[in-house]
Amino acid sequence: MQPSFNSCIKVAVRLRPKSTKEEAEKEEPVIVVDGSNIQLLTSIGETHFFTCDQCFSSDSISAVAQNKHQQQREVYEYFAKPLLSQAFQGFNTCLFAYGQTGSGKSYSMMGKIGSKSELADASGIIPRFCQDFFIHVEDLVKNYAETSVSLSIEIQISYFEIYKEQIQDLLCSTGGNLSVREHPKNGPYVVNLTKCLVTSLEEVQRWLAVGNRKRVVASTSQNKRSSRSHVIFTIVLSQRFQEIIDGRPHVVDKHSRINFIDLAGSERLASTSSTGVRREESLAINLSLFTLGKVITALAEKNFAPYRESVLTWLLKESLGGNSKTAMLATVSPRAAHVESTLSTLRYSCLVQVGSLIYL
Ligand code: ADP
Ligand code: MG
Repeated sequence: MQPSFNSCIKVAVRLRPKSTKEEAEKEEPVIVVDGSNIQLLTSIGETHFFTCDQCFSSDSISAVAQNKHQQQREVYEYFAKPLLSQAFQGFNTCLFAYGQTGSGKSYSMMGKIGSKSELADASGIIPRFCQDFFIHVEDLVKNYAETSVSLSIEIQISYFEIYKEQIQDLLCSTGGNLSVREHPKNGPYVVNLTKCLVTSLEEVQRWLAVGNRKRVVASTSQNKRSSRSHVIFTIVLSQRFQEIIDGRPHVVDKHSRINFIDLAGSERLASTSSTGVRREESLAINLSLFTLGKVITALAEKNFAPYRESVLTWLLKESLGGNSKTAMLATVSPRAAHVESTLSTLRYSCLVQVGSLIYL
């Protein structure tokens, strides 16, 4: 069943397969997923039950390879594809990957980007969405060519990282932090952020490769920073429908923003014991994930949403509230050693869904 995206937020849980090394350890399973139900057994013998909209799991890494990463397509089709037509209708959308480091957020969101307008088997949500997006544009243009309405479409992408509450452009070779301002009508935006006009999947793939390379360089020079930053890829779609009615031009504009957010690792970084940069990172991640939960909960309860308490939520203000659709993919690890992090991920995402998040 496909989610309808009528409710405030859709949540899917994806259990990553065991690596070959993890399989060899032959641990008793601590997490069992079935349909939309999840059962988790903690180290002190407590069993916790959760429900979400849909769970995805695969047995082993070798099964994944044999199936040619089939589940990448299934996850995309269930989780992200329904947002495509919503975006063309003018809805803003946010798609989050939430989970501890190593649980499969980037594999799910990005995976392999593919090349020359071809997807790879392991392509994740973003490249798959972009492929369908351009097919949709082509169909739309063809359909409107046969009518009296003239349609023009402009597509812009941007790709940036939020690290320690600071913004870094991933599509621009020069470094430096960018600031956020709020436009009285259009809402918050990043000043001087690179926005690339694109017309094909191939162009998007090239820009994604540029951004991913920049991330890797930053991450290597700053000790695996990539797990401690939020990465946001945004498509801005502008559609203009123009028609002459009774000799007068009649114009309808539709603007929508589609945001894909690969969140920083949600594991509890030992914020109290760590010092210096690690401590600053932990505080920034905790602040933004906590505020994100509060904002989603407040929106579900129609309360005041504290967007401005973190850079992430401030920037997503126009895409989370009002005319928007939100979905969250909670990624979890099969390992017993990670069960506490898994518990906290499930509590966060499943409680955010019902609008009753208490930060745990
Ligand atoms: P995160 O972004 O949450 O830190 P990654 O996406 O980098 O985690 O995943 C960690 C490792 O596990 C990577 O090598 C990735 O390819 C692999 N992996 C994660 N999820 C899956 C999956 N569902 N199927 C196959 N491999 C996966
Ligand atoms: Mg990652």
